[in-house]
Amino acid sequence: MNERAKVLYIEDDHSSQRLIQRLLGNHGYQVFVASDGLEGVSLAREVQPDIILMDINLPQIDGRSITTRLRSIASFSDLPIVALTANNTPGHRELALAAGCSGFLTKPINVDQFPQQIESFLQGHQQQLSQEDKQYHLERHTYQIVENLENKVRELESANRRLMRLERMKSDFLTIASHELRTPLTLISGYSNLLEKRLKMEQSDVLTPVIQTAERLNKGVQRMEYVVDEIIRVSRVSSGLLDLQPAPVPLAQLVSSVREQYQAILQERRLTIHLEDDLHRLPQIKIDSEQIEIALENVIGNAIKFTPDGGDIFVSGQQDEAWVTLSVRDTGIGIPQADLKRIFEQFYVVGSLDHHSTSKHAFRGGGLGVGLAIARGIMEAHQGRIWADSPGQDEDSLPGSTFYLAFPAGLAAPD
Ligand code: ADP
Repeated sequence: MNERAKVLYIEDDHSSQRLIQRLLGNHGYQVFVASDGLEGVSLAREVQPDIILMDINLPQIDGRSITTRLRSIASFSDLPIVALTANNTPGHRELALAAGCSGFLTKPINVDQFPQQIESFLQGHQQQLSQEDKQYHLERHTYQIVENLENKVRELESANRRLMRLERMKSDFLTIASHELRTPLTLISGYSNLLEKRLKMEQSDVLTPVIQTAERLNKGVQRMEYVVDEIIRVSRVSSGLLDLQPAPVPLAQLVSSVREQYQAILQERRLTIHLEDDLHRLPQIKIDSEQIEIALENVIGNAIKFTPDGGDIFVSGQQDEAWVTLSVRDTGIGIPQADLKRIFEQFYVVGSLDHHSTSKHAFRGGGLGVGLAIARGIMEAHQGRIWADSPGQDEDSLPGSTFYLAFPAGLAAPD
């Protein structure tokens, strides 16, 4: 017996897995187990087994199809693959052999004979079909594969329809809930503002703590208004409801205006936004400046949030025949490569939410995860593109991130 032979058992039933593991393990085999066919193909590639034992009745893709798949991979074309199944109805053995199995054993296995049976397959034993049988069952096997494929496509289509319905319900719910919240919030905001103002008009020290309470109330309401507005904005952007009012604007002017808005926080956190020379050389472009300013606020706001105190942010401009591009490079924590595309999805934030502080512009301050989805919607409404680049995320080495906002050169206004 080959003491060190590697056996891969593809089987979803745990008690069968345990039985074979124990039995063949006791006979010196190294047993690997995969619980479904696709995992089995990956594991086979990884461990390069000497023999594969294949349950036929597997979830998702059945064992016969997986065998055919394995046979198409050069390193498994001659490997012993033995079907192991409880289904002993007539024709099953032939189907398994036609699909590419070297042998067919039925469950329950005969514990005394099983190790020898495996050994003989390892030595090259093969169960054969007559040419005529093989032809006939191969045809049946092909029909079954196509039928299974058809069923899978139907299942996927129906799952996809369900997901799309859920997605629509989610965005309808968000739109309705945020609009319903907007009306009472406007009232609360108006009254809490009024309250703060009135209290401040009174010249009494006794009122100081009450004034503080009113200020906090106002701050909370403002934050709530911001959140509700962001949700309304993202749902408008994603349903294509942006009504653009384009006019020629120098991009450098927009960037300066955004920098101006963030002046207080930049000072507090000792951050510097550098407007590079090439930014001033960009042509004027016909865009909706209000919307693009929102997109820039989100991108620059993120650069602020994800750069530690004392860092730098560089905004520059490039131009070629096709695009006028703004780039915003920060010296912050960076973004994992795997997340570079997903951060533009609605409600996507990198990593766990635990890191997020509640303050909006504090280092790693909390956000809804919609800022970049809004920015992308606004850029796309201008036939533009937005993307991010970063070598990865590292809070110690601070690799930084760069965001690019590209506008079609056709939007450039003649001087
Ligand atoms: P949020 O409103 O939470 O900031 P965004 O859609 O603006 O959401 O950004 C999504 C996520 O992308 C952020 O939570 C953050 O994890 C990541 N991200 C965006 N910009 C940067 C950046 N400049 N540096 C590092 N991570 C960033």
